[in-house]
Amino acid sequence: AQHFLARARRHQHLAAFLAIDEEVTLAQARAQDALIASGQGGPLAGVPLAHKDVFVTRDFPTTAASRMLAGYRSPFDATIVSRLAEAGCVTLGKLACDEFAMGGASENVGIAALGFDAPQPVRNPWDAARVPGGSSGGSAAAVAARLAPAATGSDTGGSIRQPAGFCGITGIKPTYGRASRYGMIAYASSLDQAGAMGQSAEDCALILSAMCGPDVLHDATSVDKPAEDYTRALNRSLDGLRIGIPEEFFGEGLAPDVRAAIDAALAEYEKLGARRVPVKLPRTQLAVPVYYVISPAEASSNLSRFDGVRYGHRAKHYGDLLDMYQKSRAEGFGEEVKRRIMIGTYVLSEGYYDAYYLQAQKVRRLIADDFQQAFARCDVIAGPVAPTVAPAIGAQDDPVQSYLADVYTLPASLAGLPGLSHPAGFGAHGMPVGLQLVANHFQEGRLLAAAHRFQ
Ligand code: GLN
Repeated sequence: AQHFLARARRHQHLAAFLAIDEEVTLAQARAQDALIASGQGGPLAGVPLAHKDVFVTRDFPTTAASRMLAGYRSPFDATIVSRLAEAGCVTLGKLACDEFAMGGASENVGIAALGFDAPQPVRNPWDAARVPGGSSGGSAAAVAARLAPAATGSDTGGSIRQPAGFCGITGIKPTYGRASRYGMIAYASSLDQAGAMGQSAEDCALILSAMCGPDVLHDATSVDKPAEDYTRALNRSLDGLRIGIPEEFFGEGLAPDVRAAIDAALAEYEKLGARRVPVKLPRTQLAVPVYYVISPAEASSNLSRFDGVRYGHRAKHYGDLLDMYQKSRAEGFGEEVKRRIMIGTYVLSEGYYDAYYLQAQKVRRLIADDFQQAFARCDVIAGPVAPTVAPAIGAQDDPVQSYLADVYTLPASLAGLPGLSHPAGFGAHGMPVGLQLVANHFQEGRLLAAAHRFQ
């Protein structure tokens, strides 16, 4: 823990950490030392780990990287936080991300990182002029730069998989409902899932095994199915594994350097005994408009709780109650968050609900059906996790362009399927390329085994 805290301080320029607290971390570490000494250590006894700042923690502030929650302290731990602590993990601190997990570059950060006075974009350790991806960019940067051995992340539409790809690490989002959402600050509740980010598939398997499992008392969407030990499946052979290749993931818009790295990785999979099968996911392009209707709709509802009364920021000067709400929200939320609240409110409003929200829900079902048809022919689906390598900080100023770049991660999210990204070589400017694997519901073990064999 001391080693990683020292590294976190030394590499503050990455802006990966929003909060650390040496005393708290070292007290947790000492408690784990005592358990280990008495032979009572859990499976992850003493393993240091950092949490994305959307998971509430009693011992550290939680902000979702928003001014709205600056200085907020939760009275309880998120379920995944307490499960990891029970397994023996020691918390190193809280990691930066896009505000309320909205974004794909970790540039939408609303509060100052450790060592800064003003908000900063998170930086990619491979090239500090580039983004680490997002929204779990602080998690990916911290793991890639070895400021933490592993980290938690959340993935609503790609926020674990895409930053893992941009930073050359492994990240897995489990099946929707596999990890509890209790204590995870909600963005889009029907899509939000917690997951693990680490140096290897094996590390991710260890973390994921500890964090998943039913929590039916606290999360109504938690699946009542016993937790699994994902490390058991790691050495499964890839002989005969059918890897589905959706043509829609290799069309226009995919950068040639990324395509070349993915092709080489797939050839590598064939050497390990897998075989490629062409499959179709015909509604891939529709995933972007569908996601960007459904997720803002849910966000506009979830974020109504931030009213200046119950949590966080309240405007200093205001007239009546309505004025207090308006000013507190105007000051507390960043630009992207406001944009999504407005889109969400619009698509849910009388007269537009049927045209947008209801329509999007129907297409969401069709996208999920497409996956089931594909899985009749293959065991996993593979493709790029993002169309390009990590772009330069500040290069992406058109929100619609950045929404379009989510096209490869959104379909699995809309279908509630587990997805993993693992390093697959390098593309332009020597930047890492991530290969995405998607499997059917509750097949996390299959994804981790494939990635483990490949590595
Ligand atoms: N980039 C996507 C978005 O902005 C995904 C974010 C996420 O998964 N939290 O919504």
